Amino acid sequence: MANFTELVNGVRQVFRSGRTVTYEWRRTQLEGMLKLLDENMDKLTDALYKDLHKAKAEAMMMELNMVRNEVINTMNSLTTWMKPEKVKKELINIMDTCYIKSEPYGVVLILGAWNYPIQLSLLPLIGALSAGNCAILKPSEISQNCAQLIEQLIPKYLDNDCVKVVNGGVPETTALLSERFDYIFYTGNNVVAKIVMAAAAKYLTPVTLELGGKSPVYVDRNVNMEVVARRILWGKCSNAGQTCIAPDYVLCSKDVQDQLIEQLKKIIPEFYSENPVESGHYGRIVNERHFQRVKKLMQSGTVAIGGDVKDDERFISPTVLRDVKVTDPAMQDEIFGPVLPIITVGDDNEAIDVINSREKPLALYIFSNNKRVVHNFLNRTSSGGVCVNDTLMHISIPTLPFGGVGHSGVGSYHGKFSFETFSHRRSVMERGLTLDSVNAIRYPPYTEKKLQMVSWLSSQKVKKTGFFSFFPFVIIGTVVAFLFKALGIHGKEVSHTD
Ligand code: NAD
Repeated sequence: MANFTELVNGVRQVFRSGRTVTYEWRRTQLEGMLKLLDENMDKLTDALYKDLHKAKAEAMMMELNMVRNEVINTMNSLTTWMKPEKVKKELINIMDTCYIKSEPYGVVLILGAWNYPIQLSLLPLIGALSAGNCAILKPSEISQNCAQLIEQLIPKYLDNDCVKVVNGGVPETTALLSERFDYIFYTGNNVVAKIVMAAAAKYLTPVTLELGGKSPVYVDRNVNMEVVARRILWGKCSNAGQTCIAPDYVLCSKDVQDQLIEQLKKIIPEFYSENPVESGHYGRIVNERHFQRVKKLMQSGTVAIGGDVKDDERFISPTVLRDVKVTDPAMQDEIFGPVLPIITVGDDNEAIDVINSREKPLALYIFSNNKRVVHNFLNRTSSGGVCVNDTLMHISIPTLPFGGVGHSGVGSYHGKFSFETFSHRRSVMERGLTLDSVNAIRYPPYTEKKLQMVSWLSSQKVKKTGFFSFFPFVIIGTVVAFLFKALGIHGKEVSHTD
């Protein structure tokens, strides 16, 4: 079995030397990452095409531009993020300097997944390096062209002593997980997530788990069904449905089901031509195991659109299943393919019951013009994220954290949240050694008087809410107004000719 003890110890020694904590080192790594992307766009898009038949536009939009923007955003914000964060003080601490210092954890392990193999490897790496960590990255072995390219490129652009790429499958990942890391960032399915979490538990290593699940879509009545169909189809069929936040299944009324299917029939050829197998804009299922798995899911409800497969290419056409039941195969696990089951429900409350009877999803999509309906979902369900009247778009903005809840994940990242994920927020209080007489009240021998004094200085007061919170200001305002009037103080009038 592979042994990574020497590798991890070597990297840890470099971390302990303090090389990675400086702004300059972090900035250099980010510049290296930007250069890596800019000088190798073609190689990266080629590798994505080879692994997933990913169209260049999709590769650019959903992987490479996203990573590039993340590097630039991080470069632009790093000095601000690294600044110690001053905190509010109590009377008792008035002379002290109190702040939160973000410090790197140390050596972090990043395990990437195959469906967005570049993005899911490099985005967490940007976060880890910006926070001043050393990193060992293991891209997914399933998207092997991307994995090999990452292994080739990283040593050319990043600090070789601090960033290592390990390629391999389950034996290599297992061996890596037996080592002690200071943080583990895993993207993938929730079966392996439990293995990762158990390995982390051995050393009490903190983890982020970016997982998946069945992300539901609710489609209300009285929406522009053509736009809705387009947005659902785009979310479902990007990367041939192999997206962690892809709309997994639709909940809607019987009449909405008919309208949605009618629109999807028109839009599928618009997107992928009459013969999607020949479209250069449509992906393939990553391997035989997943291909066979997704094919079986089509035996649910009735095929309303598609259902075509081409075994030698692992092609599955955009497929819509109508009148699916929650007990059907397509509703057991995350679909992760271009198959869209529709389940009919009476109203939004019944849809909420279906959602709440399952594990918390990574994303929830609500198509509705009715604020009551939207808020009903927001208040009564839980999910990693929500996007109202669109799909996938909520993860494109770096000011929103991306992550799951419950079975869809632990922790989050993107933008500043990545920096925070890979940083320990250390509490620092700096005090002087003078004026120790002020501290006499906390030293023994304790007396009743000292206790009263300490309690008075350190006790929190309950804040008044509502009208009473403004009450002191009302009183002060009234008194000041009264004094002005009583003393005959008037403001100087400003004439228009001044
Ligand atoms: P995968 O097979 O590429 O596995 C992910 C990682 O786990 C790889 O690095 C792999 O080497 C490692 N691994 C696999 N089996 C292992 C084992 N037995 N022991 C130790 N390590 C092992 O990816 P996957 O799990 O098929 O990915 C698909 C899942 O990931 C879906 O559920 C999807 O929703 C989820 N996902 C989530 C996100 C997110 O950001 N939340 C993104 C992409 C995918």
